Amino acid sequence: MARRPLPDTLHRDTLAVRAAVDASQYGENSEALYLTSSFTQPDSETAARRFAGEEDGYIYSRFTNPTVASMEKRLAALEGTEACIGTASGMSAILLLCMGLLKAGDHVVCSRSVFGSTLKLIGSEFGKFGVQSSFVSQTDLAEWKNAMRPNTRLLFAETPTNPLTDVCDIRALADIAHNAGALLAVDNCFCSPALQQPAKFGADIIIHSGTKYLDGQGRVVAGALCASEKLVRETFIPVMRSAGMSLSPFNAWVVLKGMETLGIRMEAQSARALELARWLEAHPRVERVYYPGLASHAQHELAMAQQSGQGGAVVSFDVKGTDPGQARKNAFHVIDSTRLLSVTANLGDVKTIITQPASTSHGRLTEAQRQAAGIRQNLVRVAVGLEHLDDLKADLALGLDTL
Ligand SMILES: *Cc1c(COP(=O)(O)O)cnc(C)c1O
Repeated sequence: MARRPLPDTLHRDTLAVRAAVDASQYGENSEALYLTSSFTQPDSETAARRFAGEEDGYIYSRFTNPTVASMEKRLAALEGTEACIGTASGMSAILLLCMGLLKAGDHVVCSRSVFGSTLKLIGSEFGKFGVQSSFVSQTDLAEWKNAMRPNTRLLFAETPTNPLTDVCDIRALADIAHNAGALLAVDNCFCSPALQQPAKFGADIIIHSGTKYLDGQGRVVAGALCASEKLVRETFIPVMRSAGMSLSPFNAWVVLKGMETLGIRMEAQSARALELARWLEAHPRVERVYYPGLASHAQHELAMAQQSGQGGAVVSFDVKGTDPGQARKNAFHVIDSTRLLSVTANLGDVKTIITQPASTSHGRLTEAQRQAAGIRQNLVRVAVGLEHLDDLKADLALGLDTL
């Protein structure tokens, strides 16, 4: 009854729709949703062996579930890593990373431009437990090198960054980490494995917010960590089993099905984002556009080499009007004039999203911290979806043309 095993030469597009655990005895073509908290055991001896880890078998959905396993298998195939572990959210993937790798007295070097909650988790929460951290420039390799200490265990980066799309050199960071006996973790949320596979450039651990492009339709909160079989089995599964930042089978199933269209979504959303970025760059009311696919982007060549020649689907821009009072009013005018775009701070959806980072994702920073990070009041971020490009331009023109 068991399916013939998949050939081991398949392309990533194929794995995105085929990699999964075996179908059940019913031969379902769409992967089954195993909505069960526990699994019955054939007998007590088998149960004892499975609980002791001497025999494979599903036990309890905090750490073993076939739907979650399918999602993990598929994402590992896309990232090109040996293994993956699903988590309740992107943040809980980073929590799992830190709990698994760090202890009091260890040191982390992290880009200053990573997701806000990541800065808080590593800097403040793990700081409470005696983990030291240094935050450095996204793009200045000398700062990363100078921040290294004998007790540095982990380097953490995210590329491109939110909202300014700064790109860091994954290969160079991996070399800095490995020369010091540390590991490099990369948050691959913005590109997804459809555009960028950090493992190819030497990253040891890849972090995902499944909430974003992996689901792709803004339905569930989910996360994952991809790494070698050894790291996942020896370092992360034991933490998951004890700490329980588990991915629900339902959310895993939604993400599993979302990954089937990831490649074509990323390609189509990236293509629209590039066109929109070019249009914005030519608009008289736009001061500056931040998009890795534009030749004007500071790391354009690196981005194109690292991101399969594509810029991703997030475009940010400064509207004209830099004096502080006017800047915020102008950004709000562009956002509030739209009728189609969703005003929300999420991203990765097929519905295009618009937001002012200074008052949402970066609202908890002081104005001085925002200035240092380059997040100005006139900055607007657009996470491009799948609507027709002409409709997106027309919607943005409503505000831009009336500034
Ligand atoms: C959203 C996001 C996260 C956190 O993911 P959640 O699923 O919301 O917990 C982490 N990193 C980046 C880059 C994100 O955009």
